[in-house]
Amino acid sequence: MKQRSTVEDKMKDFEKLCREQGVPLTVQRRAVLEVLAGRLDHPTADQIYADVTHHLPDLSRTTVYRVLDTLVDMGVIHKAQHLGSAARYDPNTERHHHLTCIHCHKVVDLEDEALDRIKVPKESSKQFEITDYSVHFRGYCSDCAPKAHKKRPDERISRRC
Ligand SMILES: [Zn+2]
Ligand SMILES: [Zn+2]
Repeated sequence: MKQRSTVEDKMKDFEKLCREQGVPLTVQRRAVLEVLAGRLDHPTADQIYADVTHHLPDLSRTTVYRVLDTLVDMGVIHKAQHLGSAARYDPNTERHHHLTCIHCHKVVDLEDEALDRIKVPKESSKQFEITDYSVHFRGYCSDCAPKAHKKRPDERISRRC
């Protein structure tokens, strides 16, 4: 596993990416990137908006959405979208995979070299120009697993098998 970079390291990466992509780093963009650099939980646009307004209370929701769109278009951040759920924003633009909790909807990064080497089936590449992929696992996070598996433990203990 690669070591997690600090918020400052991540901001330096973002600054470099913005320079390379010719994206001027405005106050609004910097504020959005700072929120993303500090979170590993793939926040939704609304969560980012809520965090950003702690620093810039006058910023509108529309502006935050527009800033996110621009940063995604420029490849500075990634948008991770899984069927039927709100878009999540990801500061990690390297190929990686995700674990999603079906109970609390937490999204966690997963790095796995074997998954990075998946071969795209020949048949599907004929019908579709594949540019990237990521694997998405669903299940219960460590907080939710005990709740999901709890089935009246008292009853089980008192009853003899
Ligand atoms: Zn959970
Ligand atoms: Zn991710």
